[in-house]
Amino acid sequence: MHELAITQSMFDLVLEQAEKNGAKRVGKINLVIGELTGVVGDCVQSYLDFLSKGTIVEGATLSVQTVPPKTLCKECGDTFELREFDWTCPRCHGSSLDIIAGKELFVESIEVE
Ligand SMILES: [Zn+2]
Repeated sequence: MHELAITQSMFDLVLEQAEKNGAKRVGKINLVIGELTGVVGDCVQSYLDFLSKGTIVEGATLSVQTVPPKTLCKECGDTFELREFDWTCPRCHGSSLDIIAGKELFVESIEVE
């Protein structure tokens, strides 16, 4: 149910932007989703279809760009893709890691007509 609240706020934002720009219709929404958010693009699309009925956003397609989780080792400064269940640096085996990518969730741009 996580996705419904997210889609609602995304939809509000898109609608506001589109109206501000005098758009007649929203064609495409470019969304960035980090894999660590656990948000499923298909779920967002179906909630969007539901929420947008009767608005200028109705029929808009969602283009989702997923961001793989990435971490930074605070000990050696190396960056690498986070592997599940393994919270150590592959280079120095340090365990002082910072997540630097994978938690993104935002509308990158919208295409209006
Ligand atoms: Zn390291």
